[in-house]
Amino acid sequence: MKAFLEKDRLIPFLNTLSRQIEVIAPLATEAGAVYSTWQGQPLDLRSNPLSPPTEFLLPHKETLFRYIQESGRYTFKEDSIPPRLLFAIRPCDLHAIALLDRIFGSEPSDQAYFRRRRATSLVVLNCTNRGDECFCACLGAGPEAQDPCDLEITDIGDGYLCQAETPAGVLILQAAFNLLQPAQLEHDQEKARRLQLVEDAMPRDRSYHQIRQAIERADWVALGQECLGCGGCSFVCPVCHCFNILDRGVPDGERLRCRDSCILSGFSRLTGGANPRRTAGQRLRHWYQDKFEDLPKITGLPGCVGCGRCHLVCPAPIDRSDLKVESREAKI
Ligand code: SF4
Ligand code: SF4
Repeated sequence: MKAFLEKDRLIPFLNTLSRQIEVIAPLATEAGAVYSTWQGQPLDLRSNPLSPPTEFLLPHKETLFRYIQESGRYTFKEDSIPPRLLFAIRPCDLHAIALLDRIFGSEPSDQAYFRRRRATSLVVLNCTNRGDECFCACLGAGPEAQDPCDLEITDIGDGYLCQAETPAGVLILQAAFNLLQPAQLEHDQEKARRLQLVEDAMPRDRSYHQIRQAIERADWVALGQECLGCGGCSFVCPVCHCFNILDRGVPDGERLRCRDSCILSGFSRLTGGANPRRTAGQRLRHWYQDKFEDLPKITGLPGCVGCGRCHLVCPAPIDRSDLKVESREAKI
C-alpha cells in the first residue's frame, strides 16, 4: 500500500498515531537530534541522532526480571513491554536492527531482546540527505532501506511518499487515512531521482574488503597510544551489543542487563587481574576484528553499517577509515 503525505500534515499524522501508541522520533534539541518520546516537540528529520535507535531495543540498563523469595522458593516476574513505534529511523540503523535480530536470534535466542523487538514497529526514513561521515552504500546498508520494516517513507520535496511493507504498516497508514492522498507515478520517479543523487555522492573507499585491509596494515600500538578508552565509539554504534548481567537485591530483587563494551579496560579483565587485552591498541584491534571478522562469520554480514557515528564521537586523532593516526588539526 502506497500513499502521499503532504509535509504540513506530518504533525497531524503523528498526533493520530501517538494517541494509539508511544511514538519515538528524532527530536530537535540544543544538543542536536535525539530519539525520544514525541509529544508535539519540534522534529529534526535532517540529521541522524548520535545515539542510535537500537537503544530502545537494547537499553543501557534494563530489568530482565524480578525475583521474589517466599518460604525458600523463588518466583520470577517480567515487566510488561509497552508497544512502541520507532519513527524516521535511517536505513543504516534498520540494517543494524536486522544484524541484532541475527545476533540475538542465534540459539538460544535472547527472549528479553525479542520481547522488545516484537513490541516495536519500525518506520524508516530513506536518506535523501547524507551526513558527512556516512558510508552506508559501501556496506549495503543504504541510502534506501534494504531490510524489513513496517513502513518506508521518503522525503520527495513537498511531502513524503509512504509505502507499507507489512500488515502493521498498512494499519499505521489506515489509522491516518483521512490525511493521506493517493500516490502517483511521479512520486515514485522523484523518490528514485533523489535517492540516486545521494547514492552517487557516497564515498566508495570504505568497503568491507578495504576496511579489512586497513585492519591488517594498521599500527595498533600507535592507534592505542591515541585512544582514550572512553568507550564513546562503542556506545554510539548501533551494532555494538556487549552487556553485563548483575543481580541487585537479596533475597528479593531484580536481574539487570547493563550495556558494556570490549573497548573498556575492565571488560576482559579476569579474576586475579590478568587481562588478555591489556592495552588500548589490543582492545581497539579486537573491536574491529569483531566487526569485520567474527560477526560476519556468525551473521553473514559485516558488523558495521556505515553510519559514521564512531568517527563523529571519537575525541582522539584517529582516522577511522584508513585506521591511521591523523593530525590533531584534522580532528578540530
Ligand atoms: S563501527 Fe562506526 S560506522 Fe560502523 S556501525 Fe558502528 S558506529 Fe557506525
Ligand atoms: S571513541 Fe575514540 S578515544 Fe574513545 S574508546 Fe573509541 S577509539 Fe578510543
